[in-house]
Amino acid sequence: MYDITRTLGWPMPVLNELNRPHFDAMAEGKVLVQHCPDCATWLAPGAFLCESCGSTGVQWRQASGRGEIYSYVVMHRTFDPAFEAMVPYNVCLIELEEGPRLLANVVGVANADLTIGSPVQATFESVGEGLPLLKFKPA
Ligand SMILES: [Zn+2]
Repeated sequence: MYDITRTLGWPMPVLNELNRPHFDAMAEGKVLVQHCPDCATWLAPGAFLCESCGSTGVQWRQASGRGEIYSYVVMHRTFDPAFEAMVPYNVCLIELEEGPRLLANVVGVANADLTIGSPVQATFESVGEGLPLLKFKPA
């Protein structure tokens, strides 16, 4: 979904017309995902058409930021030196209450205490020079 670039040593997505609204919304503390007005399907960011009905009328909408841990892994090795200080860190698949699933870190809970189905709430942390990054915390 994303090409990667580096900003102050951090691997960051290259912003384009398909993902920019999602990342711009993070700066305002909002979770923006996509929605198909033709079949009412919510979509993860980066869709250029609806995966359910094929409509190209996909629109951006603000999500609640509430969801639950659908699945997760705890990384004990890192593929990128930028993350070495974070090991071990989690990568969670969060299912928003609207339906789309997003990959993010869950903060504010020990990795050993992560539980599938646990309710979470969006939170935002700055990376690099104030670049916002969507994370989740226990709700
Ligand atoms: Zn649709």
